[in-house]
Amino acid sequence: ELIAAQTEINSLKAELEHSKKEANTDPLTGLSNRRVLESIYHRFVEESGDSDELAMIIMDIDKFKIFNDTHGHLVGDQILKFVGQLLRKECKDPLVPVRFGGEEFALLCPRYDSEKAQQVAENIRIKLSSIIFNNKRTGDKIPSVTASFGVAIKQKGDILNNVIERADQALYAAKSAGRNQVMLAN
Ligand code: GH3
Ligand code: MG
Ligand code: MG
Repeated sequence: ELIAAQTEINSLKAELEHSKKEANTDPLTGLSNRRVLESIYHRFVEESGDSDELAMIIMDIDKFKIFNDTHGHLVGDQILKFVGQLLRKECKDPLVPVRFGGEEFALLCPRYDSEKAQQVAENIRIKLSSIIFNNKRTGDKIPSVTASFGVAIKQKGDILNNVIERADQALYAAKSAGRNQVMLAN
């Protein structure tokens, strides 16, 4: 009976782990979701005593509504999956990429200053814009997809939403200035 109980406990533990992972993962891109961003941010602030530098990059695919209208939602999904792969490849530890929602991604950059964070964003911007996709179904070439980026640095006492808000403002400025570019929040 004891062995049976232990086996049961182990299988419940495994199930719990699986559920936790699922709750933290975006099913389309396989990236972590916003929940993970929040918990990493909070842990970082706690552990550093709110004194270490941290940068946040918000990335938003340009004119993605038109892209979907032109190529179809499923092809749009393929692009988002690809962006997920690209971010996983480009974001080495300690960078954490997450799907922030829709066609928006966030990169948490612990102990990065604005210079380094802008370099990360610029590198991803260039890589994404230089890729020519193929429509898997029709074989047609799809013109490259671009994204705009807003970068913000955590200030002392900032809660996550403060940083996100400033990164968002910078992103908005990047959109207004013509898209496919990186802007630093002031
Ligand atoms: P902007 O350059 O200003 O960001 O223009 P936009 O068209 O990208 O922005 P808008 O917010 O108007 O539209 C976002 C689009 O992203 C519309 C929506 O259909 C698409 N989108 C969001 N999530 C998904 C998704 O999971 N799959 C697909 N295929 N499209 C998505
Ligand atoms: Mg958007
Ligand atoms: Mg967009």
